[in-house]
Amino acid sequence: MNYLSFQGWIRHITINLLSINVHPKPGIHILNGHYISRDDNVAKEVFAHLLEKIKSSGIEFVDFEQAVDLINQKRIPKDKCLVSFSFDDGFEECFTKIKPILDLYNIKAAFFINPNFVDGNELYRSNFTTNVVKANKAPMSWEQIQKLSIEGHTIGAHTLDHINLSIDNRNELELQIKGSKDIIELKTNKSCNHFAFPFGRIEDISELGVVVAKENFPFVYSQSDFRNYFSFNGRVINRRHFECDWPVNHVLYFLKRKKL
Ligand SMILES: [Zn+2]
Repeated sequence: MNYLSFQGWIRHITINLLSINVHPKPGIHILNGHYISRDDNVAKEVFAHLLEKIKSSGIEFVDFEQAVDLINQKRIPKDKCLVSFSFDDGFEECFTKIKPILDLYNIKAAFFINPNFVDGNELYRSNFTTNVVKANKAPMSWEQIQKLSIEGHTIGAHTLDHINLSIDNRNELELQIKGSKDIIELKTNKSCNHFAFPFGRIEDISELGVVVAKENFPFVYSQSDFRNYFSFNGRVINRRHFECDWPVNHVLYFLKRKKL
């Protein structure tokens, strides 16, 4: 988020005002981030600080797959607010910084990865971080991803190359969607049942893209339309964007905005 812009500043002030005396409404939220901070100098404890603040406002943490089961079965709690976490793009700090904080709270999260970023050479990675995901960070190794999987975190697919799926070419969609599933299953020795489409806005996947995703995965996720649990006629579960270094007021503000 860019607080230097005037618009960003206005948004910051507005959310701070609106979030005074926020009490979380009952419901389930999947928060989706990417890293501790875009700035590598920010300490991982900023995430522990955010979790502590969320917890002290009465919100409970649940494991990612538990949250997905409840949402999928439309068993939304009426008396408590539950939050779970996922992280896209598979940056190394997911393992070195985010996992240690999740461990402190005994939370199992989901990590959506791009196999070709993990396996890419220097040129591939440099293009990926500069032009595609626009964050100058290294990927997790397969050893780190395997350790997350063994410890009970979910490894999900995010296409091979983080391409925009608003296309109608079935061959390319299958290559990117099923291709990422196959490699993850081979590497983790578990079935890969979760897919988050890159960029995450509703317009970033075509109708055929959703069809191909659902042919390969029981669970498909956006990062969009967070006030509703589902998009694409119930076929896609919506997640809410956050990052670990966001002010707690901003997170609490959108946690009260879910439609039941
Ligand atoms: Zn992504």
